[in-house]
Formats: sequence, structure tokens, C-alpha cells
Amino acid sequence: MAIDDIYTDGIASGWRVRDASLLTQDLTLEADVAIVGSGAGGGTAAEILSAAGLRVLILEEGPLQTARDFRDMNEARAYATLYQEGAGRASSDGALQILQGRAVGGTTTVNWTSSFRTPPETLKHWAGKHGVRGASVDEMAPWFQRMEERLGVAPWAMAPNANNAVLRDGAQKLDWEWHVIPRNVRGCWNLGYCGVGCPTNAKQSMLVTTIPQALRQGAELVHHLRVQTLRFEGGRVAGLDALALMPDTLSPSGVRVTVRARHYVLSGGSINTPALLLRSRAPDPHGQTGAHTCVHPVVLSLAEMPQKVDGYYGAPQSIASDHFQWKDGATGAAGFKMEVPPMMPALVSTMFGRFGGDLKDEVSHLPRLNAALALMRDGFVDDAPGGQVRIDEQGNPLLDYDIGEYLWHGMREAYRRMAELQFAAGATRVRQVHLDARWTGNPSDALRHVDTLQMKKFRTGLFSAHLMGGCAMGSDPKNSVTDSNGRHHQLENLHVFDGSLFPTSIGANPQLSIYALVAKHATRLAGELARKDPHAV
Ligand SMILES: Cc1cc2nc3c(=O)[nH]c(=O)nc-3n(C[C@H](O)[C@H](O)[C@H](O)COP(=O)(O)OP(=O)(O)OC[C@H]3O[C@@H](n4cnc5c(N)ncnc54)[C@H](O)[C@@H]3O)c2cc1C
Repeated sequence: MAIDDIYTDGIASGWRVRDASLLTQDLTLEADVAIVGSGAGGGTAAEILSAAGLRVLILEEGPLQTARDFRDMNEARAYATLYQEGAGRASSDGALQILQGRAVGGTTTVNWTSSFRTPPETLKHWAGKHGVRGASVDEMAPWFQRMEERLGVAPWAMAPNANNAVLRDGAQKLDWEWHVIPRNVRGCWNLGYCGVGCPTNAKQSMLVTTIPQALRQGAELVHHLRVQTLRFEGGRVAGLDALALMPDTLSPSGVRVTVRARHYVLSGGSINTPALLLRSRAPDPHGQTGAHTCVHPVVLSLAEMPQKVDGYYGAPQSIASDHFQWKDGATGAAGFKMEVPPMMPALVSTMFGRFGGDLKDEVSHLPRLNAALALMRDGFVDDAPGGQVRIDEQGNPLLDYDIGEYLWHGMREAYRRMAELQFAAGATRVRQVHLDARWTGNPSDALRHVDTLQMKKFRTGLFSAHLMGGCAMGSDPKNSVTDSNGRHHQLENLHVFDGSLFPTSIGANPQLSIYALVAKHATRLAGELARKDPHAV
């Protein structure tokens, strides 16, 4: 079956796409709206703003790679080219491994397609504690529906793969809540390689949906271009300066690009958007930029099953359990969502926390291994405030992230519950992803063993693929960066449209929350800009 080459055909038909690595001299570009970043927030905003007739310019530091590049289904190629810092990003102390995308389509090009609405408990918490207006369950419902229709979000209709079936079977045996995950796919081949770029264009990422549509509507895309700083004049952004990157997408080529626009939208994602504001010395009278960056810290539990799992094949995530998520409300004991990660060899071998012969031995069991993960909710209580983004001397982003007793306690509880679930599903042995954990052969041994583990950094395996916050929205500039519509409190012509808007983590995989929130905010912005003088660049 032929797979469309969307960009080759589109560019041939006149789409305006520039590879900044090919530029040989400095360039100045003008637009109505300049959008920094082409991921969940940037893609959604670009489609909506260009549909309103605005001249949209999308600036992306990552490469333009498409299904044709993804056909090798090769982890090594993908991590090096499609992820921030070659998939080597981590918290500033190295204790928490962070996965984030860096490509046209942003992290949606490499994500695993789970699509959840923002939990009502989170929306209520944002309204009550952070003064977020206009984002109640009822007010958000039409925006979720619109983006679900746009991106083909529907509960996964095929049987879960054996890795996900462990979660379903264990939860069923224990009478715990579980559900089928809605995914943003159309005509999915069930290959399981979403994390290295979808080779069939089935994943409805920004790469194959909103960005192509924005280009059809006249938007311009420049990739291999890193926005370095914003310039300010009288409470407004006056322009931005960007560096063209070499084909490796890392080193600057020496060519500079200057952009002038009526309006600027930051969609670089958590960590990178606050870092751009910090690098630019954007006004920040209350020191809120980069504060409360949340990560849904993930802990994992491995299980060996009697049957083959082959967890690298099939939809990566299709079953989830919220049984322990909201038991004591948003601010009660630390809640967590249970899911599984895909068991791609390179990805999971970094999780094992084993070396030499021990690592070789564990990898040899991979075909029978299941992993359960617990996404911990951070940002809801004072003892789990999230981290702080700062920049180093070169302006590169760093994330300081500490973990208090509240989350350590929740993580130990998650280890216990995951072991219980995996044995209930028939596991022959279970071990936590923790440097001191050993394999245990029955539930009571596992529970006793979990109680002996030291819950601290560099012993506990900690991971994140969900970066949220750092430019929180809210009504009070003393504890937020933007208003409830994403407009920067201090800069009239600047909006933030990405996951950094969240005042807390959300307790669910974040992409659909970003799509819906940005669809709402961008529609409002399109109306505002259309009413102003369209020629006043
Ligand atoms: C492996 C993996 C699996 C995931 N699976 C899921 C899932 O199943 N479901 C789910 O809901 N979420 C998932 N996520 C998370 C989800 O994809 C992200 O939360 C979401 O895409 C974030 O959207 P965003 O707009 O904030 O930023 P991103 O989508 O990360 O986009 C930001 C873009 O901006 C670019 N950029 C940044 N700074 C600059 C700059 N200065 N100049 C130019 N460009 C810049 C970046 O290169 C990037 O392309 C997953 C994440 C990972 C890593």
C-alpha cells in the first residue's frame, strides 16, 4: 500500500517550506504571527491562525523528517535526530531522565498517541487554586470534541498487545478500575513504532495534520532554525533573533535570521519556552518564569511473564488504570495513573539500571518482560511544587527538580501496587526499576522487599516524557506568567501556547489537553488580531 509523501507533494505544489541549514546569508522575515515551535501547541495554533487569514510563520529548530525517513523503524536514528539533546536530556543533577521531541511536529512526531481529556479534578483545582478562568469541564468540552474530531481520537478498537493485556488482566483480577485508551490515529497498522516516528502517517501528529493544513492556508515553515532571543520595546515584543542550524540540528551555521511580526506565540514546550524567556531577559517582576515545571515523575516495575509478551509490537499504550489517581482528591495522598511503556530494546535497556553481564542477562529476557509504569501527579501540594527552569552561561536550559517526602511515599506505594497487579496477571517474578531492587517471586516477598528500598535520587529510576508548566496561566501575575488565555502578563503582543501553560501536572498524558486549550486560546487570538489593523506589522 502506497504511503503519501505529504511534504514532497506539498512543496512541489507551492508550500512555503525553508530549510535554514541551506541558507548562505542572513535573512529578515515578516509575518502577522511568528510561532516558535511546531509541536502540539504550535501546530494547533498555526492551523487556526492561518485559517483566519493571518500570515503565519512557524519556526522550528528540529528537522523536517517524514514517514519516508521513519521506514527503518530504527531507535538509534530516531533518538539522535528527533529528540531533545539526542534523548539525553535530564534534570540538572542527572537523577531524572527526560524525553522530549525536537522536530517538525514537535513531541507529537514521536509520542505514543494516548489521548485523554484533562481530568475534571485538575480543571477544578486550576480554577480554585490558580484562578484560571474559562476552563471548566463544560467550557472545555467543545474544544476537546473539536480536537478529538480533528485528530481522529477514539478508544483503541483492536485487542491490546500482550504488554497492555498484563495491565488489563491484573486490574480485572483485583477488581481495580481500568479502561481502554483513546488514541489519535487513522488507519493504524498496529506496528508499535510510534516513538521513532510513524512510518505510515497513521498517527495524527502535527506533522501530518495541522502543519500541512497551515501550509495549504499560506503559512510558512522554517526548520533547522533556533530562536535565540526576543527583543522588547515598551511592553511589547519588537522582534526575534534566530540562529540557522547545521544539518545536525545542533551547531549554528553562522547565518542569522531576524523576524518582525505583529504578534508572537511561544510553543517551544515546557523547559524550552521558559528558557527562551529567561535568555531574552523578558520582564518577570515576580520571578515566575520557569517556576513549577512539572514532569509526572514515572517509576516502573518489571515483570517476567510465563508467555511471550513481545512488548515492542502493537499499539504502545492501549490500557490505563486510574484506580489510585484521585482516591483522596487532588490534594490528598499522591495519586498516580498506571500504564505501560513500549518495550523497545534501546529504550528499556536504559531503564534496567543494570550493567555488563547483568544487563545482558536482563535483555535476553526481553521477549517475556512486561513493564508497568506509574505517572505521579506533581504540582498539587506544597511538598511537590514541581521544578525550576534556569539557563546556563550559554543560555541552554536546565531543570532543577527535587522530590519531597510526599512523592517518595507515593512512589513506594506505586511500586507495591504495580507488583500486586503484575503477580495477579500471572507474572513469575517482579522487580522494581531501582538500583537496589532484586527479583521477587511472589506478592508478599515483593511487598516486603519494596519496604526495604531507599526512596531517593540515584537509587530510584526516575523518568519523564510529560513536561508541563513553567509559564503557568492564572489570574494573579504574582504566581503566574500568562493570563487565563495564554497572554503574557507583561508583554501585550506575546502568547504562550504549549504545555508550559499548565499550572500543575494534569494526572493524564498531556497532548489532548494542550490541543484543546490552545485551540480555545488561538481561536480567541485570531478574532482579536482580525479586528485590529491587518497591515500594522
Ligand atoms: C516518547 C514520548 C511519548 C509520549 N507519549 C504521549 C502520549 O501517548 N500521549 C500524550 O498525551 N502525550 C505523550 N507525550 C507527551 C506529549 O507529546 C507532549 O506533552 C506534547 O507534545 C507537548 O506539546 P508542546 O506543544 O508543549 O511541545 P512539543 O510538542 O514538545 O513541541 C515543541 C517544539 O518546539 C521546538 N522548539 C523549542 N524551542 C525552540 C526554539 N528556541 N526555537 C525553535 N524551535 C524550538 C522543539 O524543537 C519542538 O519541536 C509523549 C512524549 C514522549 C517524549
